[in-house]
Amino acid sequence: MINQKSVRLGSVRSVIRELFEYGKKRKAQIGEDNVFDFSLGNPSVPAPAAVREELISILSSCDPVEVHGYTSAQGDYACRAAVAEHINKNFSLSLSADNIYMTCGAAASLCITLNALLNAGDEVITIAPFFPEYRVFTEHAGGVLVPVLGEEGTFQPDIAAIRAAITPRTKAVLINSPNNPSGVVYTKKSIEQLCKVLQECKEMGQTIYLISDEPYRELVFGGVEVPYIMNYYAQSIVCYSYSKSLSLPGERIGYIAVCPDMNNAAEVYAAVCGAGRALGYVCAPALFQKLIARVADVLPDVSVYERNRDTLVAALTSYGYKVVRPDGAFYLFVRSPEPDSDAFAERAKKYELLLVSAKSFGVEGYVRVSYCVSPDMIARSLPAFAALADSYKK
Ligand code: PLP
Repeated sequence: MINQKSVRLGSVRSVIRELFEYGKKRKAQIGEDNVFDFSLGNPSVPAPAAVREELISILSSCDPVEVHGYTSAQGDYACRAAVAEHINKNFSLSLSADNIYMTCGAAASLCITLNALLNAGDEVITIAPFFPEYRVFTEHAGGVLVPVLGEEGTFQPDIAAIRAAITPRTKAVLINSPNNPSGVVYTKKSIEQLCKVLQECKEMGQTIYLISDEPYRELVFGGVEVPYIMNYYAQSIVCYSYSKSLSLPGERIGYIAVCPDMNNAAEVYAAVCGAGRALGYVCAPALFQKLIARVADVLPDVSVYERNRDTLVAALTSYGYKVVRPDGAFYLFVRSPEPDSDAFAERAKKYELLLVSAKSFGVEGYVRVSYCVSPDMIARSLPAFAALADSYKK
């Protein structure tokens, strides 16, 4: 018999993918413009012009053998040095290239990090709502995911609940801010309090690593600060990706940054290299490593996402929906007017609105609206949101 866990994983689609596939069929039936697809988190703005220009320049001027060849397993030195310099400049730290490991995006960063840290049965605390793949990645690394509900209404980390969830098996706390699916950015106060708890554990002899999954770091509105965890806690690891910030999700490029102040930084970095090797990653795409070496400081234009956020928050609130106002990413968390968010998402389909029930994100009573779509589609979808709200008033 082959591995049945893998068969199960490969046989059932995620709720998000299921809805996306439904949307494709529905669009074929009634026309593209008549379905309001808020299911996927695929960036709707193109990669910045500087990214495209540098790519063309690399392809036309660099040695093709090198551009498409293997690199060092942990990534090309020039790329890692550029990433370290970017972090140091922005967050007043002193990382070197040897604290950086280039990966095939955030999913790979997380899988490698979890495999590097966990022994069988180790627990990983995460804050709900959370990206559903955390469970898959943690369990595949031999660990147990322990979701702890964020504070009702704000979805900031509930520090007392996190403290209560810590056991002798807790190996890591995994956070994601700006958050998928709530769009919430964890405040400086939340991060300080969380790190204080972890520091206390460390002083009592238990090292708990803080893993920060940051694909949405640059997607914030109105200058909101996203605290950099290495400035608060030494035993920290950042899992980064350019998928969302530079709109490159199909190119698979990101990195792991190991805090140099960690007391066992060299050992953890070696474990990251070992886990990447054992998982068969070999190296991150060479062309995109060359690109990142040139564009590590390029910032995205978030104006379309911000405009979409403002339009949706204003309109949905005026129709009577309760929403969590997001400061970042491109997701809006909307309270379901009925307790069962699956039933609400199902009813929304009758109005051709594709919304993701939040149960798979570990929270009851909400849906996720992914607004990385065209402003035009949002404008056309508003009467459907209004009619859906009205259907609960009758
Ligand atoms: N983490 C979070 C919170 C995400 O939302 C995603 C993708 O949507 C990922 C990780 C995976 O990102 P990547 O495409 O860079 O692997």
